[in-house]
Amino acid sequence: MKADVAVIGAGPAGLAAAIAAKENGAKRVVVLDREAYKGGILPQCIHNGFGLHIFGEELTGPEYAARYIDMADNAGVTFMMETMVLSIDEHKVITAVGKDVGITTIEAKAIVLAMGCRERSSGALMLPGDRPAGVMSAGTAQRFVNMEGYMPGKDVVILGSGDIGLIMARRMTLEGANVKMVLELMPYSGGLTRNIVQCLDDFDIPLKLSHTVVKMHGKQRLTGVTIAKVDENLNPIESTSEFVSCDTLLLSVGLIPENELAMGLNIQMDSVTGGAVVDSDMQTSMDGVFACGNALQVHDLVDFVTEEASRAGKAAAQYKKIAKLFVNTIAGSGVRYVVPQKLVRDGIDKTLFFRATKVTRGWYTIARCRGKIIASRKRVMCAPGEMENLVIKDADISGGVTVTIEETKT
Ligand SMILES: Cc1cc2nc3c(=O)[nH]c(=O)nc-3n(C[C@H](O)[C@H](O)[C@H](O)COP(=O)(O)OP(=O)(O)OC[C@H]3O[C@@H](n4cnc5c(N)ncnc54)[C@H](O)[C@@H]3O)c2cc1C
Repeated sequence: MKADVAVIGAGPAGLAAAIAAKENGAKRVVVLDREAYKGGILPQCIHNGFGLHIFGEELTGPEYAARYIDMADNAGVTFMMETMVLSIDEHKVITAVGKDVGITTIEAKAIVLAMGCRERSSGALMLPGDRPAGVMSAGTAQRFVNMEGYMPGKDVVILGSGDIGLIMARRMTLEGANVKMVLELMPYSGGLTRNIVQCLDDFDIPLKLSHTVVKMHGKQRLTGVTIAKVDENLNPIESTSEFVSCDTLLLSVGLIPENELAMGLNIQMDSVTGGAVVDSDMQTSMDGVFACGNALQVHDLVDFVTEEASRAGKAAAQYKKIAKLFVNTIAGSGVRYVVPQKLVRDGIDKTLFFRATKVTRGWYTIARCRGKIIASRKRVMCAPGEMENLVIKDADISGGVTVTIEETKT
């Protein structure tokens, strides 16, 4: 099969990229996804909070997904579901295996990588103890409760205060579980402030910052965990150890962009984001291969996924192999990373996405080019768990752009 644009992943990123590719003239746009249903992670996110920026409405995940699935269907996008992409070669030939098609290949003029991310598992934490039932990632529990109709347990401890952990603290409570606490290793939460308020504070669920689980108890089924406070080097303080009985430990300890396909192509990766290095067209270091969504950088808001993916889909539809002139973006003081890592001078204003290294209140996010401020915003609060963005004018870019978070603008 041949495609003008092939999109890998039918989550919000893949859907938006495919729609934008169609809108920008690509004739045959094919989306491949290993799942039987479209929408990526959204069908299991039945809480609201999706689409505030784009639609000005608080939609649930399935509602948000449904809007884009309808748009993609109306635009004439071809879907190949239950089809797992195994590899991509340097000529942009995709090899996939599917329930209906067996092993198949697709020759694509341009490819958009939109594979999302996966959760860090309990194995990565190396917690001492046996391997009892009742320990799982928060996303797995979310799928059990919201899609499969199973309750993972009754007395719950959640390790990690990322958004999925916070959402699941509320969800498990609403389903009748006793959520005893959420533990966070860092001195600040990894989730959105609105989720701390709506999912923990509103339900009197304690958030214990600078705390972790040091041991799991139970042979067949989890019977409890030992928790402890950590010092400034994140080492547990033994004298603060305490036993908490529970039958379920949910882990919300990080998301990892799913990039085996990109790495198989030897695409240049960013060691901080875990995603590909891209330019402002979302093109990776391989000509004609674009990346967006959680595969590129872990997002907290789906609206930004959609915006980023629309840019990738448009650029994929318009892709021609041409030499581009780039300037780099640089993560300066207070900033962990900036995406895109390279900017193309093409007359179009650019949105820079970045994350803070620490919590600050009342500081400024600033973009500078050759020492001159080209964009800035005063922020009530910046936190590592909340993605920031700044829009810069293409006309103001005359060299590398450095992004900082500073107390004053001087
Ligand atoms: C629990 C949770 C709660 C959230 N809550 C909110 C919220 O309240 N508000 C908000 O705005 N955002 C929220 N988000 C964030 C938002 O849902 C994500 O940012 C968004 O879903 C990312 O979209 P994506 O398309 O990049 O990835 P995904 O939605 O993960 O989709 C990726 C797709 O790629 C497919 N895929 C991967 N590899 C392959 C392969 N090799 N072959 C074929 N298919 C493949 C997968 O099957 C999947 O369908 C939440 C996220 C989670 C996990």
